[in-house]
Amino acid sequence: MGSYRTTPTPPPMSLPPATEVLIVGAGPTGLTCALGLSKRGIPFVIIDAVAAGHNESRAVVVHSCTLETLGAIDESLAHTISADGIRSPTLTALDAKQRVLFRVQFDKLADRTKYPYCVLCPQHRVEKHLRQGLGRHEVYWGRRVVSLQEVHGRYEVVFDSGEVVAARYVVGADGNNSTIRTLAGIRLDHPFTKVPLDPISPKDALSFVVADVLFENPLPEALPKDALTLVLSDAGVIIPLPVPAEEGDEAGNPRRRIYFAVADIPPSKPDLHYLQGLLETRQANAPPAGGQPIPRITRVLDSGRFRTGLALAETYICSATSGTAHILLAGDAAHRHGPGGGQGMNLGICDAAALAEAIAEHHSAMACLTDSRKAAAREEIFSRYEQRRMAVAREVIFVAEEMAKVEKPAPGWAGWVRTNLLWLLLKIPAVNQMAAWRLSGMKYV
Ligand SMILES: Cc1cc2nc3c(=O)[nH]c(=O)nc-3n(C[C@H](O)[C@H](O)[C@H](O)COP(=O)(O)OP(=O)(O)OC[C@H]3O[C@@H](n4cnc5c(N)ncnc54)[C@H](O)[C@@H]3O)c2cc1C
Repeated sequence: MGSYRTTPTPPPMSLPPATEVLIVGAGPTGLTCALGLSKRGIPFVIIDAVAAGHNESRAVVVHSCTLETLGAIDESLAHTISADGIRSPTLTALDAKQRVLFRVQFDKLADRTKYPYCVLCPQHRVEKHLRQGLGRHEVYWGRRVVSLQEVHGRYEVVFDSGEVVAARYVVGADGNNSTIRTLAGIRLDHPFTKVPLDPISPKDALSFVVADVLFENPLPEALPKDALTLVLSDAGVIIPLPVPAEEGDEAGNPRRRIYFAVADIPPSKPDLHYLQGLLETRQANAPPAGGQPIPRITRVLDSGRFRTGLALAETYICSATSGTAHILLAGDAAHRHGPGGGQGMNLGICDAAALAEAIAEHHSAMACLTDSRKAAAREEIFSRYEQRRMAVAREVIFVAEEMAKVEKPAPGWAGWVRTNLLWLLLKIPAVNQMAAWRLSGMKYV
């Protein structure tokens, strides 16, 4: 994915030689950290390796906890994002006959959040709003971190451009294959067994295909254009998410974003033939008396593949030997998991907001504490950040894994048992409420 080049490449600006906080990565995590620091008046510089204002567009689902978190930084930002996407008050799963299997009701959270829905707003649009929220603070594009070292109680970060920036805090918001994490020597572990994992073993890696497509005819009524709905067939899940129209889209033929988990390694740019094949395989086992079939794909507007596994950084913090400079991880740099439940971008944004708060607290503590108390303050403030966000990451990874199991092919009896068990369980109001509570992330706010 990644044809949404909405921002022209800005003219190169030179990087300042020093700053308090250097944020590496201008994806949703880095941008949110920048917003949190800007609100608190902490000087920072944000950079990204890519040349233009664009990150590969992947995520779509923005949950209530993310809107609450962004709203606490800037209420208008949360409103802008929810107005720019499609608000879905429910997540509905259909069976192969397109009968409602279960419906997770985010609208039942109305007494706990101002945003009792999830918003289907593609990641590139969320990032655009976050960048606009930064106002005069621009991202320095086209700067790839290649190394870093401790010099005079600061980290000096070196870029492929040859520029060097010294910073007291370096935020690693540089995604899945984080250079900052690697340079800091922070290992990735299995989130539950804690067995060291880096690099991802092929055995644990999962492959996914994502594409924005047009269909021949409107989708069946059971798959409305204003709600998050998926179809659980025995041969695997079909997720045709409604997404807002992009510039140049034909009126009356709305795009859908489809996701497929695949067993083999998919082509790097899945084409119409490949995607149609996946769709047909998943519909093949639907009983003839079942609902209306999903029509043929007529155009692929954008497509991509991604591969991920389960992982959690062994720590989110690495401090320089002097104790006066710190590397802090957030977002995909700190954790990896599949896209089940649409959690990754949300987790990164919420990590980043908490990290901005921790850095601001640490920054002001350093200005007023005696040397002997500074080390203790560092321990306490950053450990609190790490413990809290690691615990949330473990829970979110667990939920994403449970969702992935639900979405896996389950032929014959296994499929029948799964379908009926889910139907039964989610009929229990407390279980349904708990599912909404966890998926929306409101459990962790
Ligand atoms: C196909 C797919 C579907 C997904 N669906 C969902 C979903 O529905 N909901 C959801 O919440 N999440 C979803 N996710 C996950 C979501 O996209 C990620 O969790 C999210 O992008 C993480 O944000 P981030 O800012 O931490 O990292 P990224 O978005 O990866 O941003 C990292 C940035 O760091 C930059 N960078 C990397 N290395 C360097 C370097 N050495 N120097 C300088 N800059 C560097 C990169 O250019 C990039 O811009 C999905 C992911 C994929 C792949």
